[in-house]
Amino acid sequence: MDMRPPEAPYYLAGGNEVALFEQCHARQLAVMLKGPTGCGKTRFVEYMAWKLGRPLITIACHDDLSASDLIGRFLIGHEGTLWQDGPLTRAVRSGAICYLDEIVEARQDTVVVLHPLTDHRRILPIDKTGEVLAAAPGFQLVVSYNPGYQRMLKDMKPSTRQRFVALDFDFPPPERECDIVQREGGIERAQAHALVTLAQRLRTLQERGLAEVPSTRLLIAAARLIGSGIPVREACNSAIIAPLSDDGPLLGAMRDLLDATLI
Ligand code: ADP
Repeated sequence: MDMRPPEAPYYLAGGNEVALFEQCHARQLAVMLKGPTGCGKTRFVEYMAWKLGRPLITIACHDDLSASDLIGRFLIGHEGTLWQDGPLTRAVRSGAICYLDEIVEARQDTVVVLHPLTDHRRILPIDKTGEVLAAAPGFQLVVSYNPGYQRMLKDMKPSTRQRFVALDFDFPPPERECDIVQREGGIERAQAHALVTLAQRLRTLQERGLAEVPSTRLLIAAARLIGSGIPVREACNSAIIAPLSDDGPLLGAMRDLLDATLI
């Protein structure tokens, strides 16, 4: 379990999301953070957990994640079988905020174990031990979800979706993104500005088939490389452009935009 960091994680709010989340927490409502990858969802949860003084337990979802991975399992040791709580159970017992990152990656039979925790019951039945745990005060379920990603292949069932209050996230407007890149990347304002301008131009390529557009996270990675002495063009190529696509013509178009932006 994460210990509360002594200092607030840096989070620059975009709107009313902090107050809204506080109200959800106070009213024991589960929250869904919707938005593209790398736009600040995880940082927001870290900040909110700090602000509310709750421990944070983060679970990265993937298609192999089973209900036992969340709830727990019997382990065989020297002294016989021993029950070991999974991360969800630990969060339920301790009144932590439990953050399931990229919930759509998890299988439906895994996701359904969350259902009784998201309504008035706030319980977690543990079939293997026969226990029915009532969630400790302060327990809150938060999930993140990228609506653009593999939308045709994977989606959340309405029966799951409707158990959450949804907060919309997106890339920040240029001035705010500059603040974030400058601060997190540790570079000069003018350089942060150039990276944000490049990102905005690259994001227009979505209409030309670029599946994932550059996130604030990629800009920060480029900024850090620049800060450590890597030439700007090389840093942008490696940290922003190359990760986004393997398609020759798209890479060419992105490099053209890079050349035009850095002039
Ligand atoms: P997500 O969870 O949406 O994929 P993250 O929260 O990991 O994205 O954000 C990626 C990085 O971008 C963070 O580590 C942080 O450095 C930065 N970041 C993005 N948005 C913000 C913000 N509003 N305030 C502070 N940092 C931000």
